[in-house]
Amino acid sequence: MSSKASSKEKKSGLGKKLFRRGSVRSVGSFMSRVLKTLSTLSHFGSELQPPEGEKDDGGFAAFKNEGKGSVASDDSDCGGFLSRDKVPGVAGLKNHGNTCFMNAILQCLSNTELFAEYLALEQFRGQTEEEDKPKANGVPRKEKGEVTEQLAGLVRALWTFEYTPQQSREFKSAVAKRAMQYRGNAQHDAQEFLLWLLDRVHEDLNNMGHNRPSIKPPIEEDDGALEGPSPPLSAGSFVQELFQAQYRSSLTCPHCQKQSNTFDPFLCISLPIPLPHTRPLYVTVVYQGKYSHCMRIGVAVPLNSTVSRLREAVSRETKIPPDQFVLTEMYYDGFHRSFCDDDDDLDIIQESDSIFAFETPETFKLESLRSKRGSLLANLNQNNLKFGNDSSRTPSFMQGAVNPASPNKNAGADKMILLICNRACIGHQGRRFGLPFVLYMERTVTWDVLQKAILEKMHHLLRQGVYIQVGPFSLRVVGVVGITYLLPQEEFPLCHPTVERAYKSCGAGGPPHVKIVVEWDKETKDYLFGHTEEEYIPDAESVYLHREQHHQPQACTLAQCFQLYTKEEQLAPDDAWRCPHCKQLQQGRIKLSLWTLPDVLILHLKRFRQEGDRRVKMQNMVHFPLVGMDMAPHMVKRSQSSWSLPSHWSPWRRPYGLGRNPDDYLYDLYAVCNHHGNMHGGHYTAYCKNSIDGQWYCFDDSEVQPMADEDVCQQTAYILFYQRRATIPSWSANSSVAGSTSSSLCEHWVNRLPGSKPPSLASGASSRRTSLASLAESMEFPGDRSEDDGEKRVYGAYYSAWFSILCLVYYVHILYFLYLSQCFFVILGACGT
Ligand SMILES: [Zn+2]
Repeated sequence: MSSKASSKEKKSGLGKKLFRRGSVRSVGSFMSRVLKTLSTLSHFGSELQPPEGEKDDGGFAAFKNEGKGSVASDDSDCGGFLSRDKVPGVAGLKNHGNTCFMNAILQCLSNTELFAEYLALEQFRGQTEEEDKPKANGVPRKEKGEVTEQLAGLVRALWTFEYTPQQSREFKSAVAKRAMQYRGNAQHDAQEFLLWLLDRVHEDLNNMGHNRPSIKPPIEEDDGALEGPSPPLSAGSFVQELFQAQYRSSLTCPHCQKQSNTFDPFLCISLPIPLPHTRPLYVTVVYQGKYSHCMRIGVAVPLNSTVSRLREAVSRETKIPPDQFVLTEMYYDGFHRSFCDDDDDLDIIQESDSIFAFETPETFKLESLRSKRGSLLANLNQNNLKFGNDSSRTPSFMQGAVNPASPNKNAGADKMILLICNRACIGHQGRRFGLPFVLYMERTVTWDVLQKAILEKMHHLLRQGVYIQVGPFSLRVVGVVGITYLLPQEEFPLCHPTVERAYKSCGAGGPPHVKIVVEWDKETKDYLFGHTEEEYIPDAESVYLHREQHHQPQACTLAQCFQLYTKEEQLAPDDAWRCPHCKQLQQGRIKLSLWTLPDVLILHLKRFRQEGDRRVKMQNMVHFPLVGMDMAPHMVKRSQSSWSLPSHWSPWRRPYGLGRNPDDYLYDLYAVCNHHGNMHGGHYTAYCKNSIDGQWYCFDDSEVQPMADEDVCQQTAYILFYQRRATIPSWSANSSVAGSTSSSLCEHWVNRLPGSKPPSLASGASSRRTSLASLAESMEFPGDRSEDDGEKRVYGAYYSAWFSILCLVYYVHILYFLYLSQCFFVILGACGT
């Protein structure tokens, strides 16, 4: 390898970083700990105490357990040592340019205990292959199993402190060789990569000939209603053995109630995240009144609903009857869309849209309203409008108002609702000013009366002492094709055919109305109203409420995701299926359920989904259990007789209580792949629980930090890795059965790596930590070594030293035992008297 020299340099640099303690000093330190432990024990009598924090470990103590006690339970006799040292498996991976998706998955797999053991101990290698294996330094990777070989080497390196960036680079290029999509430095989906990698390893294992022939299950499931799956035809692999199980999709005919089942394998369950049920919309309500009065309110509308639901929500919030307001859209330049069909899909309205609800007069209040307006008009005429001294302008507006020439006879029957906004125009550019308002006018109203009514609504904006001439503005009718203006020359402007057309074109939602933009030329507007702009509209409490409620991503539980996954759904009419019993098309009910469970259960949260033509990420918090997830509720309910049948049949599987053991459905979390960010930019990290010290670590490319258990469940969680409690190996710190005992931890696969310790000590009670320590110390040894013979040389140099240490440890134990038994006799003696 050309980069051998540089990689060696890096390696030694890395080694220095990983092991800051000299090997000799380490031995001394260990000895001093043993002695301290002894003195502590003698001091505290029979109470077992872990050694207190020590001053002499050269800052090493800071490495882990910062402010948390989860590992403090590590009070076994070989416990105190590693808790202050580097832990195998806790090593970062270099980012080779957007490879965080790869790194996060590698860390999750490296902490998949049985998989890591299988890979690192190269259990995939057949006996004959072992012999064929060249002893050369550079391991010639067989082309056919290159990805698996690289993966195995990488996992092994992570657990033996041998990792160099060169290894992950080689792994990446092996992957790229096999899959076009992983060439280059693009970001990829971690779940897709995980599935690709598992599939690749499965293929590699089969190619290596280390698969086992598929055999028939020992007992056929034969349960009338529940047909069991047919055994797989292809050969299995360790990947399938560990990760694969089956789900059942059942179709039930609504007519004959007969059920048809199909069974499919899965390596990973993609769980849907329940969508929030509502979303917020913000609506500016234009209230009726003498002057325009507006308030912005917030409402929650159901997802996938219609405009009628928005109408109901606004009505509930404002107490305005649902048929007594018009929904429309307005921006700075005037009216935009109208929402006049209550059956329209509400998806046409987005949260950011500026929606207005114009309160309209009640029909039965018509008469009183008219009289009220009449009195207001009189009031307006007498007091409010002060016309300037500019006598050159004809006060025809006044005349028109004084002389109501309009034929008002059949007024109540023929009135029209007008939604009005003001716009100051320069050329074609216009900007709304003041507040929009509603007028309720007789159709046969004259221009003068209409003008007066409009000005009345704007009176509070008028500058003092200005003079208004007839037709200071033009009226533009909205909602018809082309631009139509009503001019002061019109005798009855609201009788104009365009108005009639606009009025009739209103949909059924809300009362019929006509939208009119009062257009002022900029000069006139400035003269009459000064620099009035769009008016301030206050927000109601409900705006803050809904903003707060909906902008926090909604939370759910993993169990709810499972419920959604296994929820029975009716087929759409287009998807109708031919029932084999009725022999005709039926809209069957389809339901997914889990038929079997794998030992390692990978759950993928479907955070990315298609929304129209864009992909969005759901940032919802999904609460998931760290320990004891019970999968039983999500399994196919089987008849009593079938419980006794093995749910798995596998030539590899260890027997672990067939069917009836409730632990079969209990799972503990050991790794999480997180996705941070959104569709535009993201980053992957992994949280993994170490099988030696039982501590959670955050793996962020090359950075690794210990983390608290309570920080593991985050809304970034993307892929969850659970392992069946009943199959957690006893050597694992995660094992609830025997993990806490030192003798079982001494069986950890790391100890079984070639050359990691003398076999004669394998069952030694306190050899777990020491052999791990020896592994660590070996890294201190200067000089590179090959995978095979180098190790033995290195370890050989240490065996004698370690052996004497172990002898001392045993000696300490014997002393301690003697001390305890002495205490025991003393107590006995005390009881006797
Ligand atoms: Zn049927």
